Amino acid sequence: MSEYSFVFSEKPITIESGEGVTLTSEDGTDYLDFGASYACTPTGHCHPQVVEAVKEQAAELLFVQASYPVKARTDLHTRLAALAPGVLENVWLCNSGTEANEAALKFARSATGGTKLVAATRAFHGRTAGTLSATWKPKYKKPFEPLLEDVEFVTYGDSDELEAAVDDDTAAVILEPIQGEGGINPAPAGYLAAAREITADTNTALIFDEIQTGLGRTGTTWACQNEGIAGDGVTPDILTTAKGLASGLPLGATLCADWIAEEAGPHGSTFSGNPVVCAAANATIDVLVDEQLAGNAADVGDYLQAELEASDVPLRDVRGEGLMVGIEVKRGANRVLRDLALEHQILALPAGRTVVRLLPPLVLERKHADELVAALESILAPTEASQS
Ligand SMILES: *Cc1c(COP(=O)(O)O)cnc(C)c1O
Repeated sequence: MSEYSFVFSEKPITIESGEGVTLTSEDGTDYLDFGASYACTPTGHCHPQVVEAVKEQAAELLFVQASYPVKARTDLHTRLAALAPGVLENVWLCNSGTEANEAALKFARSATGGTKLVAATRAFHGRTAGTLSATWKPKYKKPFEPLLEDVEFVTYGDSDELEAAVDDDTAAVILEPIQGEGGINPAPAGYLAAAREITADTNTALIFDEIQTGLGRTGTTWACQNEGIAGDGVTPDILTTAKGLASGLPLGATLCADWIAEEAGPHGSTFSGNPVVCAAANATIDVLVDEQLAGNAADVGDYLQAELEASDVPLRDVRGEGLMVGIEVKRGANRVLRDLALEHQILALPAGRTVVRLLPPLVLERKHADELVAALESILAPTEASQS
């Protein structure tokens, strides 16, 4: 066991290489990757365009501090502003999801002058002190308390509770349009629009954490543009993205409306906007657009959910949008995941004890969905012997 195992529980498979939806282990076994290491490889593993962009930028310039403009970074600002929902043209770059949210919470406080934060039950926003305060799971927080004090949790999906919690001292409401870590819970119809109205009335910043839901994953570029989640679309004041933004290289971004950016307050980070990572992100965004990966996510995701419903797999529930899918199973999710990996060479993720979480590369094809459904049938469907 490596020294990593004191934090991460290690899987018994050593991965050596990747291509598209496939990861290959040291012993030459191919695995179909339905987890994409938590949605971090939307373009597929080692997409040639991304690899080429990284190589070229690395040969030219590995790093220069953020106060010197470099083309890769200014290009990324332009791409992100164009990709953003509504007008969120102010871009802060950092190195992870939690930092993107940490900046969002800081900017919201300084722009509004408020201190209180409102977050949702089952939320996950990261593991640094600020974002951990807005994360729900007590297990993640207890050993590190006290964290930020002025955080109120409201039941996810309940607009009345949200309205009651938000007041003139509330700096921000932070929400995931579909909760990922919390079990793949899509916002109920009208919830995000209600959050928009409530926060506008109190001069509160509305933050959408799209770190897991963004970049085409749910079938639209952002989940707040997805009809199934947000009706006609809801634009937040701050949107955060990370995970797949640079196809697996470390990058987060906080996109802000002008009124936030104007009073954002001092902030910084040494590695902000590293040129190599920006080059990877530019290529990632180009691939997402050119290969229409959001459309593919919608198509293959709908197909997968329909095939699961029509299959013999005993399910409590299937939910999600596009290629962000949660399958609630009757057996513990971890046992199902182990059988998928070791018997069927399919890698996926848990979301809590009973949900198998699928966040595959967005280049996934229908035939891969068929493979997963067949594997789940073989693991979970009752055999004839057990039925009689
Ligand atoms: C993963 C995740 C984060 C934290 O991102 P890190 O890069 O692990 O810090 C925050 N919010 C959501 C919704 C996430 O899925």
